[in-house]
Amino acid sequence: MLDDFLAFTLRNQPPVAPSGTTPGGMRWRWLGQGMLEIIPPRAIDTHIVLSAGVHGDETAPIEILRDLVADIAAGRLPLACRLLVLLGNAPAMSAGKRYLDDDLNRLFCGAHRNLPGSAESPRAAALEAAVAAFFANAVGARWHLDLHTAIRPSVFERFALLPQREAGYGPEVFAWLGALDISAVLNHRERSNTFTYFSSSEHNALAATLELGKVMPFGQNDLTRFAAVDAGLRRMLTSEAPAQSATQPRIFDVVGQLNKQSDAFVLAVGDTMANFTAYPRGTVIAIDRDERYVVSHDEERIVFPNPKVKNGLRAGLMVVERPV
Ligand SMILES: [Zn+2]
Repeated sequence: MLDDFLAFTLRNQPPVAPSGTTPGGMRWRWLGQGMLEIIPPRAIDTHIVLSAGVHGDETAPIEILRDLVADIAAGRLPLACRLLVLLGNAPAMSAGKRYLDDDLNRLFCGAHRNLPGSAESPRAAALEAAVAAFFANAVGARWHLDLHTAIRPSVFERFALLPQREAGYGPEVFAWLGALDISAVLNHRERSNTFTYFSSSEHNALAATLELGKVMPFGQNDLTRFAAVDAGLRRMLTSEAPAQSATQPRIFDVVGQLNKQSDAFVLAVGDTMANFTAYPRGTVIAIDRDERYVVSHDEERIVFPNPKVKNGLRAGLMVVERPV
């Protein structure tokens, strides 16, 4: 099963044996569709959750995790942490869709309870339970990296989103993000219902959402473009230090949010721009009936513009670079 965890997940087929030991002595447990725990034989003080496919059509990171699991199973990757691998929206993944009813990455922190009829709600609850159980008695470093690919091109091809966190983030977090080939980091200042905000706020994990490039169908991803990310993940899993050669990412803070309140919402700057496109002070970014979003800093950059979201949801973020 471990040599093709993804195939079992897509077929929603539980393995004949739900747990076992690899030739290298790693103990693994299948925890349900797309959920797998792997634990080394000796006591360990690093606990890492890796997730992908929270958006079911974001295939390249799913394939990266499949290959990591296969290499651990074959003894090619000497795991030095407790590892929980989660293929997020497995039902949508099987259907080749981003989601079935609702964006899964808006349903964490219990938000799924408000949408009991949604196909995604039981999945959000199951993922929350898996993360809670994994971290329940975890003493030591806790990480959660949630791997995504973006819909649109980006000025910075690979970037990370850090959930709002009272304690902030230390230099080791930025060093690891650099080692994962991340060139820009976006700091959220408000709470949200994303998977990484859940792990951060409810389980005190150092959590980051990684946006790793553009979406392609399964089998059509050029995984060589993800080689540096893959290498960084392998260093993390084997408890090596981040590569010294890694460059520090640029850091951006969220200064505004584009809220779609009605069907009248439009992006005044068009909707084909790349993520992190910069606009000067005074630019009208969005209009919704009599509300306008106008750039109020010398320069603001737009991230995740999407005028097609449902009314009441976020249609984009505005960010400003933090002075070095
Ligand atoms: Zn995504």
